[in-house]
Amino acid sequence: MSSPTIGVLAIQGDVREHAVALAEAGALARPVRKAEEFDDLDALVIPGGESTTMSKLALSFGLFEPLRARVKAGMPVYGSCAGMIMLADKILDGREDQETVGGIDMTVRRNAFGRQNQSFEADVDFAPTPDAPVHGVFIRAPWVESVGAGVEVLATLGAEPYAGRIVAVRQGNLVATSFHPELTGDRRVHAYFVDLVRDAV
Ligand code: GLN
Repeated sequence: MSSPTIGVLAIQGDVREHAVALAEAGALARPVRKAEEFDDLDALVIPGGESTTMSKLALSFGLFEPLRARVKAGMPVYGSCAGMIMLADKILDGREDQETVGGIDMTVRRNAFGRQNQSFEADVDFAPTPDAPVHGVFIRAPWVESVGAGVEVLATLGAEPYAGRIVAVRQGNLVATSFHPELTGDRRVHAYFVDLVRDAV
């Protein structure tokens, strides 16, 4: 399949930027907000935004069960930032009633980089693109506190004070990054996901 159809969960967050990035990476991108719209997707992106709001809206729209079912069935999903939080089996510093879709055996800490450095940019060595680092835009970003045995770490930060912090992972068809590649003109992270989707369908 040359141009897979990839939905962007459009209940909150930077939907448009992901849709543009996906289209430039060779996919047919489509905003989705209802459970029945998930049926004919090859894959889904959960954008950056605010995971507590996303959780609330997903609950009230009844989206968690259909999303979990698609993840279980093997649909590829890529989550950036708040989307990473949504793919985590466990979260720290979440709201008490906050739910996630889950699927990646990891613990993610919300707003992990703290007040001093809520937003920053850094070059990230992203394993699938070894030719050159990707420019990571981190906005009140989470980090991955720990991963289970089945999770592949795709990127850790290199510079202090965050050296060694995990900021990109993959488990099966699920990919998550702490940073926002949709906000740069570099489409290599989205192209990596589109290739993964082509292999999966
Ligand atoms: N801090 C946000 C959250 O907890 C994530 C920020 C982002 O997606 N840029 O959901």
